[in-house]
Amino acid sequence: SSGGGGSGGDNIKVVVRVRPLFPGEAGKGAANVVQVAEDGGSMKVIVPGPGGASLSREFGFHACLGPDTSQAEVLELCGITQLLDAALAGYHVTIFAYGQTGSGKTHTMSGREEAIDDDAYSGADADDGIVTRSVRYLFHQAHTRKDAKYSLKASYVEIYNEGVYDLVHFNKKSLPVKWDAAYGFYVQGLKVVPCGQSRMMMEVIRTGMKHRRVGAHQLNMESSRSHSIMTVYCDATPTDPSSYDYGTVRYGKLSFVDLAGSERVKDSKSEGVMLKETININKSLSVLGKVISTLAENDAAGTTAHVPYRDSKLTKLLMDSLGGSALTLMIACCSPSSLQVEETLSTLLYATRAKNI
Ligand code: ADP
Ligand code: MG
Repeated sequence: SSGGGGSGGDNIKVVVRVRPLFPGEAGKGAANVVQVAEDGGSMKVIVPGPGGASLSREFGFHACLGPDTSQAEVLELCGITQLLDAALAGYHVTIFAYGQTGSGKTHTMSGREEAIDDDAYSGADADDGIVTRSVRYLFHQAHTRKDAKYSLKASYVEIYNEGVYDLVHFNKKSLPVKWDAAYGFYVQGLKVVPCGQSRMMMEVIRTGMKHRRVGAHQLNMESSRSHSIMTVYCDATPTDPSSYDYGTVRYGKLSFVDLAGSERVKDSKSEGVMLKETININKSLSVLGKVISTLAENDAAGTTAHVPYRDSKLTKLLMDSLGGSALTLMIACCSPSSLQVEETLSTLLYATRAKNI
């Protein structure tokens, strides 16, 4: 169905974040080839041209975040607060981090991974990513707003090789994805954890991130090859008897998705499991790209082209949170290094396709 509701395609936003060039990369001869315009509306990539000349290619997005952008600024420049408010009002919201391994997806979504191991983690940290900052905001709102009684819950899953794993109650056995006429696609047996306090949800995040690594080991896989979805369910029961929706629970939902690395595996050793893995990752990222670009086109042109949600586990699970009245933010992460310019261009191309025309 078409992405209705929005005015001229406001439902899908695409932002690019460029990470800093690390001193180690500069030491290996990498140059910085990505420039973000001062107004943050566009960016340029310098690519080698014929005869040793260089060409520059320009890209425009809802926002382009340069290497000096702080974690706090990311929330502001991506309009995360509006998305969180929408979820509290009953909308479904999906925030993706896309990009090659090492481009800053996990840093952007979760913050420093080491911080997760720190037991004093419940306190705010300058390196905190979108997820922990969002959780703090949601609980603050839930505890102070008087318009409704809020109840927040969380689940955390990983999708690897088209298998779905519960990262909170981790088990090597994947869980089945089922279809229900009333609820749509759901993960059978998935634990959804009610969280009365923000620190309970922080615990879900910490446990999930630990299991993402432990699980990678147990399943003998590279964690960069899996997608993770941390979901926050925002149930709200309006308390004002004069409210139009008094007594009707609003089921808002937020999905924070740290996608598998988008890089192509060029290694000729990619055989057997590795090859199957590569095909699945590339397939689910391309299905996601197709879903988002079809929604964007439908939204912009008022058409109703078929959206291939059922072609991957990732898009099945996100079906109720992509399109329709749902709000989507895609953060395309990229490296500024000349040595990774091809992957960067491929990320920017993917991001361009996801954007409304
Ligand atoms: P990915 O999840 O895409 O594989 P990571 O988020 O793990 O990449 O980032 C790779 C490394 O780069 C990590 O050590 C991370 O802390 C660092 N990094 C990524 N983005 C930034 C940034 N914007 N500022 C500083 N360090 C960053
Ligand atoms: Mg990562």
